[in-house]
Formats: sequence, structure tokens, C-alpha cells
Amino acid sequence: MEIKIVKDVLEKNKKLADNVRELLRSKNRSMFNFMSSPGAGKTLLLERLIPELLKRNVKVGVIEGDVATLNDSIRLQHTGVPVVQINTEKFGSLCHLGSNVVLAALEQTLEEEIELVIVENVGNLVCPGEYDTGSDINIVIVSVTEGEDKPLKYPRIFQKTNLAIINKIDIAEACDADIRLIKENIRKIAPENPIMETSARKEIGIAELADWMLAKHKVILESSNTLILK
Ligand code: MG
Ligand code: ZN
Repeated sequence: MEIKIVKDVLEKNKKLADNVRELLRSKNRSMFNFMSSPGAGKTLLLERLIPELLKRNVKVGVIEGDVATLNDSIRLQHTGVPVVQINTEKFGSLCHLGSNVVLAALEQTLEEEIELVIVENVGNLVCPGEYDTGSDINIVIVSVTEGEDKPLKYPRIFQKTNLAIINKIDIAEACDADIRLIKENIRKIAPENPIMETSARKEIGIAELADWMLAKHKVILESSNTLILK
């Protein structure tokens, strides 16, 4: 019985995630879901990444997910892009974003001129990997402070993502972190996936990430156009 309930929840989530994707296609938008444990540096990464994307002439919007506070949305204000904050404490303090709340957030942005949506998921390496948000691309971030074995301990999220980012590489030495071992562990779980190294603080690897995202963005929009033609 319990198993059935869980399955129903995930099935319902999947259906709404398809609705999210339909809405994205109808508005000619792509969506990128950033996931990590708390404190891996998602928000600072976005603070650096968004200006790089804007330089490349793509209109960005953000959906911010946190259990509580507007802190991250406030931090992104200086980028000038539209931000919708979701506080999951209003939905039972969920530790992940479900497609239902993402859909509701997206519906609030329909008047905005947005081409590329960034979702900052709730800090958590477990259930964000289970709940499809309707995003086209899923990205997982691990920071060098978290221990090299994170990919082995949380394999699911690494399997479900299209890109893994190792963040805070500028302090790897100070933390005695072995970046090569982190990479090796990611490859054990997701051998096909690209891995990028970044330092949001020192602005390393941000331009490369923006280029990678823009290339994906173009592919997503082109493939949706072909679907429409068919
Ligand atoms: Mg954050
Ligand atoms: Zn959760």
C-alpha cells in the first residue's frame, strides 16, 4: 500500500512535468534545473552565470526554490532578471521542488520575456533526483568541501543529470580535496556525462558553463520547432 502511494505521487508529478514541458515549448523556452546539497554554492554560481548568459543575448528568468526565506531571490536582484521565489514551507516544507509548484511559478512568468529558465532547486541530493520538474536539462553541483564520495553515496541524482559541476575548486587544496577522485567517482556513476570544474568565487569555468548551456538551449528550441512542423 505504502509503495503504491509513493508511485502515485511520482506518477502525478511526471504528468505535471509533461505539462511544464508543453508550456515551455509553447513559449519557446528552455529550462535548466540546478541541484546540489545545501551550501554547495548554487546561488553564487547563478550570480556569476546569469551575467554571462545575458552577455550572450539570451533572456533569462529564475525560479528559486527554498524551504523558507527570500534570501536567494534577494541575492539575485542585481542581475536584473525576473525571479519567482517558491517557499516550500507553504507546501509542507518539502525538501524538493515538485512539478506542481514549478508549473505554478512558471505561470507567473508568462508576461515576461524569458527564453531560458533556471531553476534553483531546494538544497538536497536525495529527492530532487526523483522528482521531475519538467526541466529539459538537469545539472548537479558538488563542492570540494563535501567529500569525494558524494557521487557514490547519492548515485541516483548523478544518474539523472546531464552535467556534473565540481564547484569551489579554488579551495580544493585548503580542504585537502582530491578533484581527480571526485571526477573518478562521478564517472563510475554516470560515465557518459560531462564534468565541469568551477569556482564561482574566482569566476573560473563560468563562461564555459554559459557556452554549454547556450548550445543546449539552441538544440532544445530547434528540436521543439521540428516537432511543431511535424
Ligand atoms: Mg541557494
Ligand atoms: Zn524532498
